[in-house]
Order: sequence, then structure tokens, then C-alpha cells
Amino acid sequence: MLSVREAQAKVRERIRPLTPESWPLSCELLGLQLAEDVVSDLDMPPFDKALMDGFAVRSADLENGARTLKIIEEVSAGKTPQKTVQPGQATRIMTGAPLPAGADAVVMIERCRIVDADAVRIEDAPRPEQNILRQGREMRVGQVILAQGVRLRPQEIGLLATVGKTQVKVRSAPKVAVVATGDEVVAPAEMPGPGQIRNSNALMLLAQVARAGGVPHNRGIARDRLDSLRPHIAEGLLADILVLSGGVSAGKLDLVPSVLEESGVEAEFHKVAMKPGKPVFFGVKEHDERRSFVFGLPGNPVSAMVCFELFVRPAIQGLLGYPPEIRLVKATLAEDFHYKTDRQTYHPAQLSISEHGWQVRPTPWFGSPDLRGVTAANAFVVFPEGDHHHRAGAVYDVLQVE
Ligand code: AMP
Ligand code: MG
Repeated sequence: MLSVREAQAKVRERIRPLTPESWPLSCELLGLQLAEDVVSDLDMPPFDKALMDGFAVRSADLENGARTLKIIEEVSAGKTPQKTVQPGQATRIMTGAPLPAGADAVVMIERCRIVDADAVRIEDAPRPEQNILRQGREMRVGQVILAQGVRLRPQEIGLLATVGKTQVKVRSAPKVAVVATGDEVVAPAEMPGPGQIRNSNALMLLAQVARAGGVPHNRGIARDRLDSLRPHIAEGLLADILVLSGGVSAGKLDLVPSVLEESGVEAEFHKVAMKPGKPVFFGVKEHDERRSFVFGLPGNPVSAMVCFELFVRPAIQGLLGYPPEIRLVKATLAEDFHYKTDRQTYHPAQLSISEHGWQVRPTPWFGSPDLRGVTAANAFVVFPEGDHHHRAGAVYDVLQVE
């Protein structure tokens, strides 16, 4: 059986970034990869700019500290100064306004005492350039300000707006279809009958897709019959990634792998040495001009969640154009913990930062169906196979999921 690391490598080997597309600039581009170099269409700031509310002065006038100056004008942001500051004069100025000619410093208002409408007592000896940002200091027209390949975060999106880049070439976000399977699975709005269970997985997985940067598509519930699985899988294969929950174990009605294979999905692995999540399936469908990546996740909610974070999330990141992020950190165990398991186990846990670095505390958990237990967790601590007394202070790998 493959280890988690080996299985992740198999996913990584098949993933290629999606082709770029042009999109209107909006906050929805958050997280996408820029696919062109962006050039500034202006100088920033476009003029010599005041960084404080106060008075624009000639620093030479104030070499010896306090002095009373004549107020000649008032300039707020959006206005243009009309007068040159001559020796012995000052212009009242607001943050963001253009610096008047003649001035070479701005004294903050807290250091100024207004004597009357025409006079201000400056109690400061500003150095030249104090509280001024000169034209083009941030960037110059024609300069490349964002290079192809960067991830668009809020600051990059704001900068694109600054330079008027209203149409942006980015790598598309992968479309991810989610199909739940199972005869016993009913919609959240229903009260489950005997032997039934509400479909928690679809919404959970769709939320994980959104968190990972994919575009979630809910493709409903397929029953454990060929005539129900086939159309659901055919529709799911229209997406870049198809995520199925349930139907991949060794039961009589676990038909998902066989329907995938008859649908042209080439299996890369089926089963990984881990707990929860051992029956996980991964395969690839080659279409004429594109590929779909298919993940069959076990139906128990915590298995589905852990498998998503270990295998599907890196696939989404890869299609977005990023190297698969390693979300494992080393953390010290906060307290002694006895744990017996027959496979490497991802156990729900609280990861926190302490004065000694990352610290991890396993949270109470009753196994792969127990999704409620995971609501007290923000991570999964990795325990090795065997019957062990884990000691406080020992170091473990921890999978971050937030
Ligand atoms: P399976 O992997 O199909 O054998 O499913 C394992 C268990 O997961 C089943 O016994 C169900 O109780 C549960 N399960 C399957 N699908 C879902 C789902 N969509 N939402 C919540 N639980 C599920
Ligand atoms: Mg099932």
C-alpha cells in the first residue's frame, strides 16, 4: 500500500496548471495567479505628496526651531496649490494633498499653533523632505510593478486598481464537482429514516473546495446503482476535478471505482496506508484537450475531510499554478497521550503557538464518523502505527487545516 507521501507524489506528477484567461478586475480574483507582467500607467504618487495634516514650510526658515510664519493658502486632498511658499510663509496642507512649490517639508499639525487666520507658530525644526513622498517614489510610469506568477492577495488587487488594470490575465480557478454517493444518504432538509444519514459530506467538501481556491459545484447524490452513478460521474467529469464521497471501500455496493474505470478514468491509486481514509481512490480521465482529476473519498465524514486536505487541496493548488504547499508543521505534544492504532493516524487536534513554538493537543474523538469531534480541532496530529505512550514535549507532524 502507498504511503501518504507516495500518494501525494502521484497526484503531483499528473497535475499541470490550467491555461490563463482574461478577467475583469474584482475581489473575486483573490488567490489566483497573475499570468502577465503588469506595467504602471502613471507615477505614484503622481505629485509630491504630503503625508501628514499640518503646514508645508521651507525647512531653512526653521533651522533654529520655533518661528511664526504667514499662512498664504490652504490645500486639501484633491486640490492643487496656487501659490509658491516664499521665505517666512507656510501653506496649510492636508494628508494626501500636493506639496506647494517652494516648500520642502511638512510639519505635523500637533507641532503648530495657529495664532490667527494669517499666522501660525511652528514649534519644530523639520529636516528637508520630512513628511513628504516625492513624485514617482513608489513607482514610475512604464515600470513592471507585478510580475507574472504572483498570487493575487488583497494588496496586489489594490495595486492593480491603482494602475487602472481593469482586465487581468490570470490562471483560471479549477471547477470542482462534488458528488455524494450512497443509498442511505438523504438531503439535510430531511429527517433521516431508519439506517439513513444526512448528506454532510457534500456541503463540507464544497466548503473545503472554496477554502482551497477552487470553484465548487454541487452535483447531488448518486445512488449505489450503475444507472445512477454513471450519469452523475459523466456530468462530474465535465469539471476539472471530480470529488466523490462514499462507494470506494470493499463492500458489495462500492461501485465507484468500477464505474470510473468504465468511464475512461485511469486509476493511479486505490488505498493509502492511513487512518482515517484508507480506501481513497485517485485517477485521471484524459479528454481530447484537457484532463479531469478524480478523487473517490471514503464516505465517513472525517475520512473525506482528511483525504481532501491531503490529496485534493494540493491538486487544486497545482491547477492554480502553485507548488503544492506543505501544510505539515512540527509541534510539541502539550500533554501525555496514549494511543493505539494499526495505521498511521491523523487525529483531530488543537494546534497553537506557545512561547516555545508550535504546540499540539489531541482533541476527544470517536473515529471516522465523528465530525462533531473535529469542530473542536483546527489540525490533525500524525501518530505512528502501534501502541504508544506519547510523551508531553515529544515532536510530531501536524497537518494544518485552517
Ligand atoms: P462508504 O464509504 O460509502 O462505505 O460510507 C461509509 C459511511 O459514511 C457510511 O456508512 C455512511 O454512514 C457515511 N456516509 C456516506 N456518505 C455520506 C455523506 N454524504 N454524508 C455523511 N455521511 C456519509
Ligand atoms: Mg456507501
